[in-house]
Amino acid sequence: MSEQQYAEVLVALSDIDLGILRLQKQVDELPHKQQIMDVRQRSRELEVKAQQVQKMAHDAARTLKLLSDETELNETQISHVQATLDKSSEYRETAALVAEMEMLAHRKAKLEEDSLSQMEKQEKVATVEAQVARAVEKLNREEQAYTEAYRKVGGKLKQDIADLEHAREALTATLPAAMAERYARALKTKAGIGAARLMGNQCSGCHGTLSEGQLAKLQEGPPVGECPNCNRLLVTAACEA
Ligand SMILES: [Zn+2]
Repeated sequence: MSEQQYAEVLVALSDIDLGILRLQKQVDELPHKQQIMDVRQRSRELEVKAQQVQKMAHDAARTLKLLSDETELNETQISHVQATLDKSSEYRETAALVAEMEMLAHRKAKLEEDSLSQMEKQEKVATVEAQVARAVEKLNREEQAYTEAYRKVGGKLKQDIADLEHAREALTATLPAAMAERYARALKTKAGIGAARLMGNQCSGCHGTLSEGQLAKLQEGPPVGECPNCNRLLVTAACEA
């Protein structure tokens, strides 16, 4: 290839790399990424709440079970004392059994009261539990929607980047190795511009203005020179973009 062709390849490469940078910036700035992270943060907070509510529900159920067991025992005791009372004819024994029966009846009333209030508590916990479950479901749906949107938009951008990278590889292969290396090095270290172009009396890489002497020297030289300010490869020849 001629020097003029190398100059054209460098210009094409610069355009491709600029395009890649722009696309990469678009990927990085996709709003979905932040949205997904926000939703995940809210999910974690909700998960803590869900665990608290679950523990409350568990405690309420356990308390209710204890009350129910004791109620059953109380009922058995009442029937037993009642049966004994039915058979009793001795005054002192009867009086003692009646007193015991009163105690058991008192306890029974208390158990009923406690069970009712515990059931109310359980109902409230169940309501909160349902609210939390709905909120979790809503967040999951949101995360899914954001993830799908991100995949769709991000996937298209990444495919475009991959296409450009492919084109870059093919172009780079046509350059002399030293020139390709120099371009790649500048691309990494010099603000993403591997080769500059001469625009009037300015370098497109550093925007430095060249003196008449520098300009004349570059224009007399090969189509690919070097910017005296930023040392980038500098395409001096007129190229079709
Ligand atoms: Zn320059």
